[in-house]
Amino acid sequence: MAKIIRLIPVNTVDARLADRLAVCIEERFLTGVRIERSLALPRTALNATRNQLFAPTLYARIIKGFPGQEGLALAVTEYDCYKTSQRYLFADADANAGTGVVALHRLRPEFYGEEPDANLLFQRVLKESVYALGRAMGLRSCHSPRCAMHATSSVFETDSKSPNLCEACLGRISRARQ
Ligand SMILES: [Zn+2]
Repeated sequence: MAKIIRLIPVNTVDARLADRLAVCIEERFLTGVRIERSLALPRTALNATRNQLFAPTLYARIIKGFPGQEGLALAVTEYDCYKTSQRYLFADADANAGTGVVALHRLRPEFYGEEPDANLLFQRVLKESVYALGRAMGLRSCHSPRCAMHATSSVFETDSKSPNLCEACLGRISRARQ
């Protein structure tokens, strides 16, 4: 039986984006997706010098805020995120905690001085959500630039990859589930 995936909006996230994301994730992972109540995370939780959220801090808050929950958790946040080895990130996960994050801040066209584009934003969020969930399931980054599991550090790379897993990564996921 596949594990349930729980989407957790951090503070306020566009409900239409969350709903659409839930449907698309359900299709890709063939598993139930539930949108949880949002996790309140004040700006005081950010690293004050960097004005960014440390991803492991977010994972700890999720585990504390939703104790004893089954399945995988994916936080969706407007905050700019980072971790020790990365100055910023689009998506990340802690496989041991079964928890990941997708950060909208740098996926927005506006961040690069372009016009807002809800559809482009959604495509980027979907690809990076698939990446985060794959990592949460224990998958490594994929060397194929078209695979959703390809680690990206620029939106150009995100736009170049597909929202789907390559055959090799799909095989790894089905083996991981057995
Ligand atoms: Zn792959």
